[in-house]
Amino acid sequence: MEKLDLKSMEINELEEYIVSLGDKKFRAKQIYTWLHQRLVTNFDEMTDISKVLREKLSNNTKLIVLKPVKELTSKLDGTKKFLFELDDGNVIESVFMRYKHGNSVCVSSQVGCRMGCRFCASTLDGLTRNLTASEILEQIYRITAITGEKISNVVVMGSGEPFDNYDNILKFIRILNSEMGLNISARNITVSTCGIVDKINELAKEKLQITLAISLHAPNDTIRKSMMPIANKYSIAQIMEACNNYYQNTGRRISFEYSLVQDVNDSKDNAIELAGLIKNMNCHVNLIPVNPIKERDYKETQPQFVKHFKNMLEKNGINVTIRREMGRDIQGACGQLRKSYKEEHS
Ligand code: SAH
Repeated sequence: MEKLDLKSMEINELEEYIVSLGDKKFRAKQIYTWLHQRLVTNFDEMTDISKVLREKLSNNTKLIVLKPVKELTSKLDGTKKFLFELDDGNVIESVFMRYKHGNSVCVSSQVGCRMGCRFCASTLDGLTRNLTASEILEQIYRITAITGEKISNVVVMGSGEPFDNYDNILKFIRILNSEMGLNISARNITVSTCGIVDKINELAKEKLQITLAISLHAPNDTIRKSMMPIANKYSIAQIMEACNNYYQNTGRRISFEYSLVQDVNDSKDNAIELAGLIKNMNCHVNLIPVNPIKERDYKETQPQFVKHFKNMLEKNGINVTIRREMGRDIQGACGQLRKSYKEEHS
């Protein structure tokens, strides 16, 4: 029988499971704390759990622990990129960043991605599989253990489309946010999506205080369709409606990501059209010059034009920042490091 994934269980599931093994319910809390707060990597470290129960656990369940296979540190800003190997041999990447307001980790949500965005390296080989909640949590747990530093912010902006793996992402957020876990506040968790409207609406119903980031990248459907296949499924109008719904349910300001590609989406008119689209929303725009990947012909917008684009949005009353690029010297863009590692090892 396939072993159960202990680290993907929320507390109520773990309680039920421990009771089903014939043990006391309160043991589940102890075990949960070992897993999600003390970040143990094997059952023997759970010293207040009886040997009998530990044996039952190790016979029937598995403890997912990621294996670090590569670590790169940026000379520019100290950003660290990690490659982790999963139990089935797949590798995923995660990023550790230091900011004034605390340390942040960017996690992957899938092995590969099937969204097909034209500028993105993660999607070049398609989707291999979803990550489990435990595998997403483990990226943060291992980075905490390796760096010895406290993580205060988490962004789900690595490889993969989180809303293509919705149930596991929700579990991940609940465990990460739990008091008996790392207790990272919902407000310090950001989930970024290419705009899967049905799932945005589902998440809105949860009324969590997490930040929703939308990879918009275009002011109209024509340009968006040329950049992102998902635009053929959901229109910008539908995305805006879902964002308004999310805001009404949660009171959280929406964050729009806009990667600037030379001569594709970076003109003055594009900025004016974008401003018109979002001017009545409580939102924020994050501009980032596209990070060119060798497999595609997109070029990044030059810094002075990024500033022009920003000024034009500001003139029209939009909150906007230019995202500070971190770790560009260590293949900071989504999926680049994993791709080159796979190419070296195949
Ligand atoms: N699938 C999710 C999250 C992962 S991508 C999403 O689409 O939001 C995280 C962000 O990086 C997205 O805004 C994505 O569009 C952007 N991105 C991916 N590749 C990029 C590149 N080469 N240059 C700039 N931004 C990129």
